[in-house]
Amino acid sequence: MKRSIYCSLLMSAMISVVAAEETRQVDKHEHGVGELNIAVEGNAMSLEFMIPGADIVGFEYEAKSDSDIALVNSALSKFQDFENIFTLSSSGNCNLVDAVIEINQGDEHEDEHDHEDEHDHEDEHEHEDEHDHEDEHDHEDEHYHDEHEEEAHNEFVAHYSFTCGNVKEIDRIDFPYFTTFPNSGELEIQFVSEVGSTSFEVEGDKPFIDLKGKI
Ligand SMILES: [Zn+2]
Repeated sequence: MKRSIYCSLLMSAMISVVAAEETRQVDKHEHGVGELNIAVEGNAMSLEFMIPGADIVGFEYEAKSDSDIALVNSALSKFQDFENIFTLSSSGNCNLVDAVIEINQGDEHEDEHDHEDEHDHEDEHEHEDEHDHEDEHDHEDEHYHDEHEEEAHNEFVAHYSFTCGNVKEIDRIDFPYFTTFPNSGELEIQFVSEVGSTSFEVEGDKPFIDLKGKI
């Protein structure tokens, strides 16, 4: 993408928007592949899941019908109880200290529209009704919107933090995630501790990771 100096100056006024964009490109995820970052530091362990909506509820457009909204709310409440998603070896004596569950809505537009996220996805298109489009033009708008929805992506993002009495005693993490969400694919896991970093690919037929010697 070519960008003029003038445009760059304009963009500098939007620096916070650009910074938000750096966190993650939801649109680039792969359906059937959830990501999980696990970090152990001192007595603290954190797990952050980033999972395509397709793997959780089977769709990624913004839920509007009652049944879709119910599916999303049900999924969010399952994430609220982390033991639906994963379990840590009890010998680690870990206590959950924080959990943040949210949906990261992908941006169907250009980067400049990222700030919409701060406004709870108010439907910007509703006010178009005020313009009383001629009937023959309405179908064009609908077509446009349909294409948007087909391309929409979102992710469930769940962040859990623990403090552990015996963090080095954690030798295994199990993932009931795969049975909780039948649409789930694999989990690609990045694990980091003082010992080093390891990656795992976990699927429902062997839903756990072995952490012996890795913490
Ligand atoms: Zn997607």
